[in-house]
Amino acid sequence: MNQQPAPSISLPERARQVIPGGVNSGQRNVPGLADLVIARAQGATFWDAGGRQYTDYHAAFGPPLLGHNDPDVAAAVAEAGRTLDLCGVGVTEGEIELAETLAELVPSMERVLLTSTGSEATFHALRVARAATGRRLVVKFQGCYHGWHDAVSMNVISAPDRVGRRDPISTGILPEVLDATLVLRFNDPDGVRAAFADHGDDIAAVIVEPVPHNVGCLLPDAEFLRTLREECTRHGSVLVFDEVITGVRHGLGGWQEIAGVTPDLTTMGKAIANGYPVGALGGRADLMDLFSSRPGAPVFFAGTYNGHPAVVAAALATLRKLREEPVHEHVFRLGDRVRAELPPVLASLGVPAVVTGYGSVFVTYFMDRLPKTYDDLLANDTGMFVGYRRRMVDQGVFELPLNLKRSHLSYAHTDADVDRLIETTEAAVRAQLA
Ligand code: PLP
Repeated sequence: MNQQPAPSISLPERARQVIPGGVNSGQRNVPGLADLVIARAQGATFWDAGGRQYTDYHAAFGPPLLGHNDPDVAAAVAEAGRTLDLCGVGVTEGEIELAETLAELVPSMERVLLTSTGSEATFHALRVARAATGRRLVVKFQGCYHGWHDAVSMNVISAPDRVGRRDPISTGILPEVLDATLVLRFNDPDGVRAAFADHGDDIAAVIVEPVPHNVGCLLPDAEFLRTLREECTRHGSVLVFDEVITGVRHGLGGWQEIAGVTPDLTTMGKAIANGYPVGALGGRADLMDLFSSRPGAPVFFAGTYNGHPAVVAAALATLRKLREEPVHEHVFRLGDRVRAELPPVLASLGVPAVVTGYGSVFVTYFMDRLPKTYDDLLANDTGMFVGYRRRMVDQGVFELPLNLKRSHLSYAHTDADVDRLIETTEAAVRAQLA
């Protein structure tokens, strides 16, 4: 029987009584932060229920590129709320405009479908690739995350003894489903060529984060992405760029425009709606036209909330602002400051550290050279990585204290924020070393 909570029970205790672990995602189960109750967010800041203020570099794993609760996005969502919630039939003018905008911006996107999450977008990308090719295997890379569904739920952050082996991130996945995914090494073109030589006729899709930001930041060698393109083309496999993080955040045309490599399908999400639940899948017309949104087409595609008017309004307002205001210029400049100014500070403390990233994304690894591959990341000092961030959080500067997680700058962060970030990092690392 439901009971009203006694007034003396704290919010985190109430949460744990009714929500497993007290949070709504395995990724929010962060040691040391079990009692964090979020109350409000604005710009580069969030506040907890006790009124404590944090400068936010975690950014909800990446969506609020404009900053939290951006006034233009909030106004567009409020306006949508006044006019239209959801009818679940037909299409809205906003959905058309959003698809047109993405198709105009992103080189691979001839046709576009909307989902509510990035996971749904990658799920549908792999399903349509299997349908189009009639093949079984999917290739993913150690260190890349593509959402929670079975085909890709493996080998993201793996312990050293699990690298190079099957490493599911969940139980409950059928072994035959796990066996239908090959896990290769990122930035290893020879490994890709070898896998295609052995299995090319059975590879339906290669899915990749063109910059694996789910382990911080591994910058891709140009040859690596080109090899993926060449091998997929040669063997008739579908190349999927998962640009859920890189898309829009690094450039309006995604990483594919930066790299000059055009995949067959692209998935996006996160920053395209600045914090509202969105995913998008786009790509070659012949593949996209296999989805059942088209009469008689065979690949089932649905979702009650796909193209929700409030989300579409948020995305349109976000993309408009990204096109009209110097958002990228601002976040790239702040990111460059972090990557230029933090290394000498850390060097002066005598700690081996590299500060890397791209544009608005930065990460400090505690190791002595820039990582190119997941195996290189095994040299990162996990204790330092998590330890200094816990101290930062105590000082109200929020970089997520979980190993290998990246940090994000937004349009709302200022030079003063970056000054404080650098000062706080210095103090936190110094204390961690003591
Ligand atoms: N792809 C990438 C690269 C991601 O980083 C994520 C989420 O972090 C996803 C897909 C899944 O997106 P969502 O959490 O919206 O389902």
